Amino acid sequence: MTVSGVLGREREALGVVNRVAVLVVESRLDRVGRNLRIGVLALQGAFREHVEALRGLGAGVVEVRLPEELAGLDGLVIPGGESTTIVRLAELYGLDEAVRSFTGPVLGTCAGMIVVDREHLDLADLVVDRNAYGRQVSSFEADVELAGDAIPLRGVFIRAPRIRSLGADVEVLGEFEGDPVLVRDGRFLLASFHPELTDDRRVHELFLTMVEEASSVGSL
Ligand code: GLN
Repeated sequence: MTVSGVLGREREALGVVNRVAVLVVESRLDRVGRNLRIGVLALQGAFREHVEALRGLGAGVVEVRLPEELAGLDGLVIPGGESTTIVRLAELYGLDEAVRSFTGPVLGTCAGMIVVDREHLDLADLVVDRNAYGRQVSSFEADVELAGDAIPLRGVFIRAPRIRSLGADVEVLGEFEGDPVLVRDGRFLLASFHPELTDDRRVHELFLTMVEEASSVGSL
């Protein structure tokens, strides 16, 4: 057999392996998504779009408006909206303390990122400036460059916060013009844009993988 024949075969075999790996990941997420129960804080803002995105991935989703609705959940989403309103309503219903006591993975988008920063609930190791992209361009769409993925993610930025300072252990997973806009601090996955407003589900998939990992460690 010629060298190119051998390489061709290897390439074919690799293609099969890759396809199998993709299928395994997809079916795992499919299976896992169905067993997980995710809460979406539904006080104000773009919570319905998160509910739909997560249901579309097969997760069980509940809207959270009261502290007791957090019990037994595997993960929590804090959506975008108006952070002052979300914080005020959370305090009114006692959800601020309930969210502080929640130990599972949290996806915070836009206002959700603001709510957990050091100057608000102080749960994640970062500080953000609100509405920091200026009046003229306060809302825009742009490609977010992802770490470890050649295909950028389309980000919808709506009066978005800009990260001013990040703790040393916070991983930067996505950048826009050199600014970190998608970060992970342990169990917190935080985006300054709105991944629920596009059809690209990579952020929600990553979140469900974090939830799956946390719940399988918890059940050991
Ligand atoms: N500007 C809003 C705030 O300060 C956040 C905007 C958003 O969530 N899209 O809370």
